This record gives sequence, C-alpha cells and structure tokens, in this order.
Amino acid sequence: METVYLDNNATTRTAPEAVEVMLPYFSDLYGNPSSMHYFGGQVEKSVRSAREKVASLIGAEPGEIVFTSCGTESDNTAIFGTLESYPEKRHVVTTRVEHPAINHVAQVLTKRGYRVTQLPVDRSGGLDLKQLETAVTPDTAVVSVMWANNETGVVFPIEEIAGIVKEKGSVFHTDGVQAAGKIPLDMSRQKHIDLLSISGHKLHAPKGIGVLYVRKGTRLAPYIIGGHQERGRRGGTENVPYIIGLGRASELALERLDDENTRVSALRDKLEKGILAGIPNSLLNGQGQPRLPNTLNVSFEYIEGESILLMLSKLGICASSGSACTSGSLEPSHVLRAMGIPFTAAHGSIRFSLSYYNKEEEIDFVLQHLPGIVQKLRAISPFWDQYQRQAAVGG
Ligand code: PLP
Repeated sequence: METVYLDNNATTRTAPEAVEVMLPYFSDLYGNPSSMHYFGGQVEKSVRSAREKVASLIGAEPGEIVFTSCGTESDNTAIFGTLESYPEKRHVVTTRVEHPAINHVAQVLTKRGYRVTQLPVDRSGGLDLKQLETAVTPDTAVVSVMWANNETGVVFPIEEIAGIVKEKGSVFHTDGVQAAGKIPLDMSRQKHIDLLSISGHKLHAPKGIGVLYVRKGTRLAPYIIGGHQERGRRGGTENVPYIIGLGRASELALERLDDENTRVSALRDKLEKGILAGIPNSLLNGQGQPRLPNTLNVSFEYIEGESILLMLSKLGICASSGSACTSGSLEPSHVLRAMGIPFTAAHGSIRFSLSYYNKEEEIDFVLQHLPGIVQKLRAISPFWDQYQRQAAVGG
C-alpha cells in the first residue's frame, strides 16, 4: 500500500536536501559553536549561514532570528517574555482559534490573575477588526493573533491587525507556524510585527527546531534562562544539525514559494471541487476567507470524522480531524466550535493538508474512494437517517 500523505499541517517530510546537509553535524562536525577553537568556529560559521537563510525566508535580519526547540516554545517565549518585560501591564489579547501553544497559555494566564481577551470569529472564521481595536487598551502588554489557522487554513489580515495594535502601543506577536513557507512573509515590509513564531517541521525541516523572530529593539525577557547563546535571548547549546537543516529547508521554501505553492494550490482546488461536487452535504469550512494554498477543511454532515479517517487510513490515505493535538478526544475542534459550525457538521470534519511532495494521482485516488466511504458511513448513521426522513416530509 502506497502512503498518500495529506496531513502536512500536522508535520511534513524532512526534505532529503535538508537531511543531507545535516548529517556531517552528527558525526565529524560535532564542535560547539561557542568554543574558541577552530573546530567550534567552523560550526559557528555554518550556524551563521543557516541563520541568514532563515532570515531571508521572512525578510528579516539574521540578528533578529532566535532559534528555539519548536513552535510551542517560540509562542510561549513571546507571551511570557513580553509579560515579564512589561510587569505593569496585566492584559493579553488573543483569539479563540489559536493553537493550544497560545490558547493554553491564555488559560494559565487567567489562573495567574491576568485579564485575557479571546476574540471570537464569525461563521467563516474571520475576525472583526473593530472588535480587536476596542479590545486593546493601555493595559494590554501583548496581542497574539495567528497568521494562518492550522485547521481551516484561514489567513488573517496580519499586516492590518499589527498596524492597529501598534497604534495602540502594545507588542504584537503572530504565530506564523502554518504560514511560513506557504505564503510570503516579509518583516522588512511588515514593520508592525514585533514577534513571529515559526516551526521547522511544518516546512520540511526536522521536528524539534523552531524560530522566534524578534524585531530589533523589541523588549523581550528570555524564557529559557542559561548561557549567552542566541545573544542572551535563549540559553542552551544550539541544536546545530537541526539549525543547519532548517537553513536548507528555508532556502528550499523560498525557492518554491511561488511556483510550487501555485501547483499545490491547484491540487487542493481539484480536491475541494471534487469533494463538494461529488459528495452531498459536504461543507467547506473557512469559505469566503483567504486561505493557505495547501489546506482544505470539509465537514461531512451526520457522520463521524474519526470513522472517515480510519477508513481512509486503511487505504493508505493520511488526513486528520481537528488538529493533531486534539484528535483522540471526542470533543469537536475548538476552532470549528468558535466558528459556530453545528454539532452534526463539526463532528464530521476532515482536514486535508498538502505539500510539494503530493501528486495529482494521489488526489485522484482520494476522489475515487472518499464518496464511497461517506456513503457507507451514512448508511449506518442514525443522524443521516433522521435527516433523510425529515427531508422526505419537507421538514
Ligand atoms: N502553532 C501552530 C499554528 C501550529 O499548527 C503548531 C503545530 O501544530 C504549533 C504552533 C506548535 O508547533 P510545534 O509542534 O513545533 O511545537
């Protein structure tokens, strides 16, 4: 059975080109980049070059790149580090659709006595910017709004949001974990963004490496306290091989940003059109909003997403229901709930997320099998049965 991997918002394949450049740093080039001798120095040079490549991907200066262990650490650092830098401010603004790396931090902050505003979204997953503007007060230390949603792919107007926040005098952080490598990010132009999180394993680098972009001049206390690494912004000996891998993956992502994303987007559109046209009672989540080129979230009414996933999995097709972090729980996704998607649709939602490695035959394979799977599950669904009866009597 061939694997058809359509779960790239959960994690991506590490690019073979990235693996190749990483390998020497596990064996021959094992020096510590902080060492004074030539052996550490040559590694330091490679880390510097990787930092430049990551910076280029997002139009930043190399000195603004802080390597972390993952997107979650970057998000936590942005929030806790800012709060520590502005101890007099006790308010944080975020949204109801953030990843748990921000959402759960918001819960912890509430318990610690901070005031937290979690902005709602509308049925299509969009934010009301007037509401955002009103929410930010002189007491607001940081506003954190994700660039693109990991479940629906909805892209928020981050430049506009950042402008509103800066006008009000707060620090602006965006979780760009799903956006980096999929849509252009340019910190040299998008000047109101103070802090930006990236995760390596979402853009074909390995798991366990992340980045926090910190705009020059931003006040930010370190979150991991230790040595002087990362200009004192993050203690701990650098994860050299992974940093090198992320450098190469960033270079590839930049090269592929236009052409490859256009190709990925065409494949996604084919899948989307095929599903919506071929399967009754399938609803597109995030419709009407700008979305990432690779993401498709569809609700199949009156059946369970988990059952669909299992049947797809038997055919080698990997997708997800809700985010990987919430699957395994029977609660529908907090993102779809925040959007007000009814219970009967939210439970049957599936996320397909593509990458450069997907081929058209794989999309055709899914389109060949999915309608039959949905039909089979509906045949044994009491909710579908009830819906059909109601429809028959015009109810
Ligand atoms: N933020 C978003 C939007 C994500 O999708 C993820 C991962 O799914 C994270 C943060 C966490 O990144 P990591 O897995 O590197 O900790």
